[in-house]
Amino acid sequence: MKKFKKIGVLTSGGDAPGMNAAIRAITRSALDQGVEVVGIIGGYSGLLEENIIPLTSSSVSNIITHGGTILYSDRCLEFKTPEGMAKAVATCKKHNIDAIVAIGGDGTFRGATDLTLHGIPAIGVTGTIDNDITATDYTVGFDTAMNTVLDAVDRLRDTCESHARCDVVEVMGRDCGQIALMTGIASGAIAVCIPELPFDEKAAIEEIKNAKESGKRGMIVVVSEGVYELDENGKKIPYGELLRERIETQTGVETKFARLAHVVRGGSPTLRDRLTATKMGCEAVDLLLEGKSNRVVIEEDGYIKNLDILYALTVDRMYKNKLKDGDLDKFSAEEIKSMEALCEKRRKEIKDLYDMSWEICR
Ligand code: ADP
Repeated sequence: MKKFKKIGVLTSGGDAPGMNAAIRAITRSALDQGVEVVGIIGGYSGLLEENIIPLTSSSVSNIITHGGTILYSDRCLEFKTPEGMAKAVATCKKHNIDAIVAIGGDGTFRGATDLTLHGIPAIGVTGTIDNDITATDYTVGFDTAMNTVLDAVDRLRDTCESHARCDVVEVMGRDCGQIALMTGIASGAIAVCIPELPFDEKAAIEEIKNAKESGKRGMIVVVSEGVYELDENGKKIPYGELLRERIETQTGVETKFARLAHVVRGGSPTLRDRLTATKMGCEAVDLLLEGKSNRVVIEEDGYIKNLDILYALTVDRMYKNKLKDGDLDKFSAEEIKSMEALCEKRRKEIKDLYDMSWEICR
């Protein structure tokens, strides 16, 4: 087994609070085991541009409390091309980088698997606020983002209460409604709307009418950014804005719209994110030192584990109905069955919470 002397760490795709905690853990854990560490600046772009800095124990000091990522992030299209990959591999060879830990989402893991296939062993660590990676119960950044939403919604609720208003709050999550669903429940929203399941607009508006009649003043509706309607030209119109107008005209309750957008991405990571990022970072280094690569570090039932990246990406595509011809060819019948079971589990988790959100809003 090859003994790694130097590893590189990068953050890529959308940033997430807790990425710094992962960088710190990877750096300190590797140094502790006699392995040098370098930081690659700006995701995969840093490999193409040879933008590389040494990481020492002191260079990751006091970053665990900070949101964002000290290594910065980027979306690098050139990296996906054969020429881009050749440049990235050449940079690793030139700088004696034996392996890479890539922190990010599914796109980042695709990059990591490509690097491994081109001779640079790589490990993925989850870092995305959306919690939208099917293979893992949890992604670093999710808890902080949800707590930031919760804080904002609580504030809106105070002012809604004072003025007998409704606020439709749109939250991030791309095609995944988990941030909306969980913060909607935790903030006592009267309705929650997510992309995964049909929304009964009529029932929600009826609910708001009834609540108004029974004397309720402040009302919150949480809508995921992934829900939209198409206009006559096929352009996506965010559903939250449409719903605001419909609630106001059909109930007579003054209704505002608030888009929390990128506010939710920043801020000091919660304990949950710092701890999970630290555990995942240490696991990534251990895997590399055990000679493993092309793995993604995940959380399952409270334990930090790891999975083959291709398996993780494939089950993700299965869950999102994006499987392409041949995607399942590399897997045994047993593996496909376990993927289907995981997709079913994820669907049930969302459905159960969604049903509960309707039950408790009345
Ligand atoms: P996330 O990791 O948050 O899902 P992206 O999907 O934007 O974010 O991916 C981040 C980066 O990972 C991309 O800019 C690109 O450099 C790399 N990447 C994404 N998809 C691939 C791919 N199919 N092959 C190689 N690299 C990829």
